[in-house]
Amino acid sequence: MADLPGAPGADPLAFACPRCGGAVTGAYYGPCPACREALRATLGGAGRTVAVEDYVPKVNVTPNAVALKDD
Ligand SMILES: [Zn+2]
Repeated sequence: MADLPGAPGADPLAFACPRCGGAVTGAYYGPCPACREALRATLGGAGRTVAVEDYVPKVNVTPNAVALKDD
C-alpha cells in the first residue's frame, strides 16, 4: 500500500500541536490528547446549552367575524 500520511496502519505522524505547540505523535494531524480534552470540555458542553424560546405565533389576523357572531 502507498505511504499515505494518516492512513490506517501507516506510521504515526510527528508534529506540533496546533493549539499548544507541544510535540504530538499520532495517526492524524490535530490537537494533542490534552488539548482535545480541553476543547471537548469547553466546546462540547457549552455548545449544547442553547436558549430555546417558545414559539409564539404572531396574532396578526382578525378573528373570524362569522365564528364570533353569537345569535
Ligand atoms: Zn496541545
